[in-house]
Amino acid sequence: MDPFADTLRRLREAFSSGRTRPAEFRAAQLKGLRCFLRENKQLLQEALAQDLHKSAFEAEVSEIRISQNEIDLALRNLRSWMKDEKVPKNLATQLDSAFIRKEPFGLVLIIAPWNYPVNLTLVPLVGALAAGNCVVLKPSEFSRSTEKILAEVLPRYLDQSCFAVVLGGPQETGQLLEHKFDYIFFTGNPRVGRIVMAAAAKHLTPVTLELGGKNPCYVDDDCDPQTVANRVALFRYFNGGQTCVAPDYVLCSPDTQERLLPALQTAITRFYGEDPQSSPSLGRIISEKHFQRLRGLLGCGRVAIGGQSDESERYIAPTVLVDVRETEPVMQEEIFGPILPIVNVRSLDEAIDFINRREKPLALYAFSNSNRVVKQVLAQTSSGGFCGNDGFMHMTLASLPFGGVGASGMGSYHGKFSFDTFSHHRACLLRRPGLEKIYSIRYPPYSPRNLRLL
Ligand code: NAD
Repeated sequence: MDPFADTLRRLREAFSSGRTRPAEFRAAQLKGLRCFLRENKQLLQEALAQDLHKSAFEAEVSEIRISQNEIDLALRNLRSWMKDEKVPKNLATQLDSAFIRKEPFGLVLIIAPWNYPVNLTLVPLVGALAAGNCVVLKPSEFSRSTEKILAEVLPRYLDQSCFAVVLGGPQETGQLLEHKFDYIFFTGNPRVGRIVMAAAAKHLTPVTLELGGKNPCYVDDDCDPQTVANRVALFRYFNGGQTCVAPDYVLCSPDTQERLLPALQTAITRFYGEDPQSSPSLGRIISEKHFQRLRGLLGCGRVAIGGQSDESERYIAPTVLVDVRETEPVMQEEIFGPILPIVNVRSLDEAIDFINRREKPLALYAFSNSNRVVKQVLAQTSSGGFCGNDGFMHMTLASLPFGGVGASGMGSYHGKFSFDTFSHHRACLLRRPGLEKIYSIRYPPYSPRNLRLL
């Protein structure tokens, strides 16, 4: 018995009926989403606190407000995004009409992770609905309280003939992926990304893969250590360190490390107090499995700051590791927790070489008082996104595409990029039925004279 067949058939029928295509329908769905967020804000904040010990502040700025802004932007621009895009023509098509039509793919599957369980389900959903698709949403089974709201409350705000939430872990998602979708948007780790892409390949379904990896953070000798420490600590420990674009490790000289360590300690104490475990601002690790994995990483190098953990709360203290070797696990896998290793390099060139020897990251950070240094890192490396002298602020701009490159993913979204991701760009040329005399120069028998006229 296939648990998804009926739902998928219903959604396919709805798409075929054409009802998701008009701008009015799309706008009504987006307004429904906006209403869902407004009316259930407190419920969502409570769920995020239960799932991740997420503070109301972090929930507001990184989950709810980002989603709201995306909805508002899509509603403001929907009609202009939907408009046919006229394109330049050549001599042979001067009398025709040539344009790109943005049409919905059809039935879209969105698979989401647990670390920002509202943002990373709703933001892609905004793009998929704005583009006129029917959508199956698969939230993460780990962020249980949020998953429950998405499954039980969200559908009430949307047209249920065109939208469904399905639940489950790897096994159920695997079953779901056996079905044919017209587009799959996946956010999660690169191992699962490969599984999703292989399943999509069977149906030749296009995918966006928003994956993770290790995001380097280069800190130049020419910097103000306290400013750098404040910014690195904020973005490393935000959401308990469970952010795909968090700075994963610092690359700096031994001298800069010596100046950075007391500054990082100051920042951590200022942010989370003398006893970070009692701070309402610090998140917890999502699951026992991830907690044990992270506790294992605390054994790499030498603990310079933090290092404490408490299994009963899945608490890991904001930690800084030094004397870390490149071959140790903490430098081999994405950390995804509140642990920051510092790796020493002797020069900017060595740092760039270190970055380029590894997979292309989702984000890359460079801190320096010298604009030249920041620009050199930007010019000589590659990554999904880049931010000079701060953490993941680049991804808060809906005018920038958000996505990875190489092992950190493919495709991008946010703002209009989301609409374009979920739309097929159909190449259209409309020719008048007449003027046969002119167009007949293309027909055989071919002649050199006609070739000159073409
Ligand atoms: P995950 O890949 O384990 O899970 C993501 C989704 O895939 C979940 O809905 C899960 O149910 C499903 N899934 C898990 N195993 C599966 C399988 N074998 N077959 C089919 N589906 C399966 O990722 P996660 O642990 O939820 O999230 C953490 C990862 O996601 C990190 O690597 C992080 O960097 C990445 N991430 C990336 C972004 C981004 O925007 N690029 C954002 C957040 C998280």
